[in-house]
Amino acid sequence: MSPAEAYRKEHEVTATGDNVPGPFIRFEDTGFPPEILREIHSAGFSTPTPIQAQTWPIALQSRDIVAIAKTGSGKTLGYLIPAFMLLRQRRNNPLKGPTVLVLAPTRELATQIQEEVIKFGRSSRVSCTCLYGGAPKANQLKELDRGADIVVATPGRLNDILEMKKIEFGQVSLLVLDEADRMLDMGFEPQIRKIVNEIPPRRQTLMYTATWPKEVRKIAADLLVNPVQVNIGSVDE
Ligand code: ADP
Ligand code: MG
Repeated sequence: MSPAEAYRKEHEVTATGDNVPGPFIRFEDTGFPPEILREIHSAGFSTPTPIQAQTWPIALQSRDIVAIAKTGSGKTLGYLIPAFMLLRQRRNNPLKGPTVLVLAPTRELATQIQEEVIKFGRSSRVSCTCLYGGAPKANQLKELDRGADIVVATPGRLNDILEMKKIEFGQVSLLVLDEADRMLDMGFEPQIRKIVNEIPPRRQTLMYTATWPKEVRKIAADLLVNPVQVNIGSVDE
């Protein structure tokens, strides 16, 4: 058995798709710049989590992914570090809109994601704005006007801002749907579809979900192109 196969067996990783690259078993396998590795090391992390190990090499190939893994498995850095890598090689003008868009179901989650951006994105010098409901729009719009490489948003608030024509999606080249199953449970599907319709089709899309019911499978089939599916452990439908 190859080291990749042995790793997948031990950590219950299933990866389905064309020519799936082997997992980055150790941080040294990632090829991330030393500053990022230092930030990870300072956080006290010793090895990639299985979802990180298997999705990083795929994400770095600019491919679409649907990842099914339980909460607490390290999904946030699973997509944020590839986002930082993209931003490091492609410096778009943040005043003309974000390069990376992350959709998340709740204000709490969006705020947590922004905190991870601040903690691990320092050396990559990325700017990030958070847009969520239940707080005045004016401040968020002011922050957005100052420019953001990464926008982390709940679908409802982002769709409002889109309808006000206060955000431009022409530069978005990485779209992340975090906790897709929860966003659908909360009834955000129409807003998600309106938002995605405004994003250039030549993008990379990463979708994360804890469960894999048919509504999630349907939206994945509609929004992702030839994705690699990565599961950790058993899949709850
Ligand atoms: P999920 O989105 O899958 O629920 P998170 O991304 O929120 O998981 O990560 C859960 C916790 O694990 C966070 O506190 C995060 O900082 C931590 N974490 C992330 N990656 C690693 C790692 N490689 N090693 C140890 N802890 C990690
Ligand atoms: Mg998460």
